[in-house]
Amino acid sequence: MSVYVVGHSNPDTDSVCGAIAYAHYLKATGTDAVACAQIAAANLNPESKLVLDRFGLVVPQELTDVEGKDVALVDFSDIGQAPANITKANVVAIVDHHKIGDLTTNGPIFFYAKPVGCTCTVLFEMYKNNNVDLPKDIAGGMVAAILSDTVNFKSPTCTDEDKAAVKELLVIAGVASQDDLFMDMLMAKSSVAGVPIKDLIFRDYKDFDMNGKKVGIGQIELASLDQVADIRADLIKGVESVKADGRHSVLFMLTDVVKEGTDLLVVSDDPAIIEQAFGGKIADNVMWVDGMMSRKKQAVPPLQKAFGC
Ligand code: MG
Ligand code: MG
Ligand code: MG
Repeated sequence: MSVYVVGHSNPDTDSVCGAIAYAHYLKATGTDAVACAQIAAANLNPESKLVLDRFGLVVPQELTDVEGKDVALVDFSDIGQAPANITKANVVAIVDHHKIGDLTTNGPIFFYAKPVGCTCTVLFEMYKNNNVDLPKDIAGGMVAAILSDTVNFKSPTCTDEDKAAVKELLVIAGVASQDDLFMDMLMAKSSVAGVPIKDLIFRDYKDFDMNGKKVGIGQIELASLDQVADIRADLIKGVESVKADGRHSVLFMLTDVVKEGTDLLVVSDDPAIIEQAFGGKIADNVMWVDGMMSRKKQAVPPLQKAFGC
């Protein structure tokens, strides 16, 4: 019987490429295994699609119910992130880099987790320790997963072990530039091409009550502000129409992940309050706020203060 290797629900690139890498490892060490994902190929996120395509990897098989199956989990150990009927499956192995979840097993299993930035870093160590030959295409998927999970080493979760793994994996995969690969992934992930303006504004949007005034804040993350150069005027019009719908102010954060700052589109009854909150000048409805990446941590608190909350 095959072991079905699967990552968490709403899979990221680590869950997808980790399943591929671990399935190959199991096969190479004498256990029949199938790489799976809890999603149809068409619904994989744009970053994962790009990575599979770039390295010519076979798309994992869709797996949503594991009743009666032998399964190996990568990148999670929570029942809530598992396929249906995980408690009626036979979990034979877990490889992960998160806190231990709530899954329990009836018998002893292979369980390997480390506090590093990515499951593929853990898997790479397993390949090396056991002298398992790592194919070029799979190495490509693994290095992409590590860059994704560690945000190209910028995440506080990134460790020296992740960096060392990337260094070796780039060579095996024949990838010339780590930064170029990361940028291609970021561009795919943050693509705005063809997305309706309203959908962009409401993709990640919240209304707040600021001292009795309704204030809306939306955000999109970009690899470069150039991605929205052609639609800036339309975005401002869109923000104006959201504001016109009974709000005191609407802010739309165009966050540049590479430059680590936000171009803030502002439409407000009282722009001076917004300027006061972020200590800048609004020109043509726009203000650059250096270092602003997080709505929750860096946009909302200064606004609350400025509105006298
Ligand atoms: Mg993950
Ligand atoms: Mg991960
Ligand atoms: Mg992740």
